[in-house]
Amino acid sequence: MKKVKLITLVWCLSFLYSCNKEELVDFDGPWIKNESAQVTLYTRPADYSVSGSPNEEQIRLILQNQNNFIKVINDTLGLNYNGKVSIYLYNYDEALEKIGINGGGRALTDKQVICYAFDGKLMYYSNWKISDFMGLHEMVHIVSISQLGKGGTRLMTEGYAVAIDGSYAAYKDKDGNMIRYLITEWIDASVKANKVYSPSELLLNPDNFPEEVFYPQSGYFVNWLLNKFGSTKINQLFTSKREHFKTDFYNITGTNFNEIEEEYLNYIKHSEKLK
Ligand SMILES: [Zn+2]
Repeated sequence: MKKVKLITLVWCLSFLYSCNKEELVDFDGPWIKNESAQVTLYTRPADYSVSGSPNEEQIRLILQNQNNFIKVINDTLGLNYNGKVSIYLYNYDEALEKIGINGGGRALTDKQVICYAFDGKLMYYSNWKISDFMGLHEMVHIVSISQLGKGGTRLMTEGYAVAIDGSYAAYKDKDGNMIRYLITEWIDASVKANKVYSPSELLLNPDNFPEEVFYPQSGYFVNWLLNKFGSTKINQLFTSKREHFKTDFYNITGTNFNEIEEEYLNYIKHSEKLK
């Protein structure tokens, strides 16, 4: 345990140095360290806090899933991330204070670190046919930014994460199971409510939207782009800044962005049931 604590302190100092104020994370131990393939998982010891720490079986599942997710992300995006990722899993009742969030997590991409709140609720991902505590979202940030560079727009940075995870948020079914909402379900609901926003609006004014609008709609559009043009082309747009995104889009795909968004909006409005 002493060794883990020492490593934790070193990490902590390097973060204090490299992060701005909002991004400060309290990495202080004690941590239990488990490692498998590319993922090192730090969890709290049993009885650390009232809301509970992950048990051995849960730790094994998280390590197995997160290693698989790296493969899925590499395959989907045609990348080859072969580095390590450290995951710090905070107990639910301490997470808000230590990492600033207790629903989900955050990726510190310059250090290949994910900080995440553990609430003990397994969520079912029907698109991946798995149950997991964390999902792919933060891992997509780590892999995509490490391999492609710092995202130039929120449309692409968050769009990639939501597109590959394939879901956003969760609901409780009648048996009490937590089920992830697929992005197709979000878009279906947005179409019915007549609340579909154009990719241009998402590209240029990302801060005008609440997260539950911006994330699924960006994710669905990016997923559609990846299917239509392939990852080799779309990856080149990942770092493109919004000021010249449309020009870059034309240079890389040979297609006008305004035409593409019209095609996209037509597609989602006229699809009976989105796939
Ligand atoms: Zn994100």
